Amino acid sequence: MNKAAIISIGNELLNGFTTDTNTPFICDKLIRSGVEVVCSLKLPDDIEKICEGLEFVSRDAEAIIITGGLGPTDDDLTRQALAHFLKVELEFNERVFENMRQYFISRNYQMAEKNRVQAYFPKGSEPLPNPIGTAEGIAACADGKLYFALPGVPSEMEKMLQYSVLPKLSKTAKSKAIFIKKLKCFGAGESTIAQMLGDVMQRNRNPLVNCTVRQGVITLHIVAAAADEQKAKTMALAQAENSKDILGELVFGEDDQSLSQAVAEKLTKEGKTVAVAESCTGGLLAKMLTDIAGSSRYFTCGWVTYSNDAKIRELGVPVDLIEKYGAVSEQVAMAMATAARKKSGSDITVAITGIAGPGSTGQKPVGLVYIAIADKTGCRVEQRNFRADRESVRIRAAQTALNMLRITLKNR
Ligand code: AMP
Ligand code: MG
Repeated sequence: MNKAAIISIGNELLNGFTTDTNTPFICDKLIRSGVEVVCSLKLPDDIEKICEGLEFVSRDAEAIIITGGLGPTDDDLTRQALAHFLKVELEFNERVFENMRQYFISRNYQMAEKNRVQAYFPKGSEPLPNPIGTAEGIAACADGKLYFALPGVPSEMEKMLQYSVLPKLSKTAKSKAIFIKKLKCFGAGESTIAQMLGDVMQRNRNPLVNCTVRQGVITLHIVAAAADEQKAKTMALAQAENSKDILGELVFGEDDQSLSQAVAEKLTKEGKTVAVAESCTGGLLAKMLTDIAGSSRYFTCGWVTYSNDAKIRELGVPVDLIEKYGAVSEQVAMAMATAARKKSGSDITVAITGIAGPGSTGQKPVGLVYIAIADKTGCRVEQRNFRADRESVRIRAAQTALNMLRITLKNR
């Protein structure tokens, strides 16, 4: 069984009430077990649509994993649909019913008559134990393909996938071990990184390199498949080293490391202190720097000087600088960073001033941000034009400041 499909079922997934978190969870577990996910579908609680979906995914997949629609209420129709698709009747299972009865007795609850439906299974199928809920899952085999139906509740689905489904799949899986290594990058767009890496991002390659983007952070997922785990790991790590050489300082970390962690490690290792002066980010940079346990070793203080008055009064930014260039200017960003360094006595200071939007009072566009860094060698400033909403402009500005700090520390 090397090819699987996932079907998540429930009207709530299609009307936007519930976000489908089951599919990404199952995908991750399958890929790590050497099973390729060839298709995933989201379907309503509708017997006809579920049968059509099963028909469609069964063309390509060898194992089909369904979640949702096993509840006791009239809207849950997955067991009926699966029986219809398999062209078999639903059969009452005495043992499952007794388990359910015991489950309710042990919790001092009255079992509703409606729960009875959860003891019916398509003829020839096998119930899959549910260690934490009433709805047992279903495992069936037809035309050489395996069908699994699991409850939609994520905590129940996760346990049943781990204890019942994955062991059954690995029994029949063609032996293949998967190792995944992640590289975290910041400072260039997805397409630039793809261009730098060249053909390693081509599909059907082993190791395969995929790329995801979130708030300016690009994660490269290096997926290697081999006969055993050690071989897969060696291949993935070799590819990671090769990509690091190509991407240079764009790579800030590995696996689940954040930019804040990368900066924190560097500051701690070098025994340096940092202070910040923020305007449009309203303290977000200070928050990110202090998200890390042990941040008191490197973080000294921060100023949130939102108004012009505060910039003048608290930091001593010259009035004429603000009048001449405006509060959002490279001159004011540099004055903020330099003043913060003098006042805090820290080794390095970072200042941010910009227009988060959605409105802009002057000529300057929303998303314009200046970030300045001051240390003993002087002060430098960078300009960014983020095209994003208020929240994203603020996050991107703080992330960019962290990245500048990281590069400054690296090049010292
Ligand atoms: P069901 O098994 O259809 O009765 O689902 C029970 C509950 O599980 C639903 O009310 C949702 O809150 C949740 N659920 C169902 N499917 C999913 C899914 N794909 N991702 C996350 N939660 C889900
Ligand atoms: Mg449901």
